[in-house]
Amino acid sequence: MTSLKSYNKKEQDLNLTKNQKIVLNLLQNSSEPLKAYSILDSLKTEGLKSPLQIYRALDKLEKLGKIHKIESKNSFIACSNSNCARNTAFTICESCGNVKELKNNYLSDGVNELVKKNKMSITRYNLEFYVLCKNCKTN
Ligand SMILES: [Zn+2]
Ligand SMILES: [Zn+2]
Repeated sequence: MTSLKSYNKKEQDLNLTKNQKIVLNLLQNSSEPLKAYSILDSLKTEGLKSPLQIYRALDKLEKLGKIHKIESKNSFIACSNSNCARNTAFTICESCGNVKELKNNYLSDGVNELVKKNKMSITRYNLEFYVLCKNCKTN
């Protein structure tokens, strides 16, 4: 299982196109989720001039689990776990907008348990929790 995972990860890195690498790099260096148009804005100097190039790269990176979409913000963020192409969970601070990805092993267990009771099986989930982050809570 572990070896298969690292094998896949290597393959995915090798298969990234130049555009995908540029977009991934931008998101990895961003401290906050970015909307597609601001990604386009930032990457004009890198030669990515059409929205289609950006959307294609975002789509592929999302499928690979390298980045995630924050649905409620319509923005994209680099994955901070190693690989979670299917299941994601985030906290979003209601005060400052800070977004954090949760390591969600225990959430998977809970969700699995819940659907099993109803004789279903979960295919994927994308959770967003609204919180007050550490900084905003104490201020
Ligand atoms: Zn992730
Ligand atoms: Zn905050």
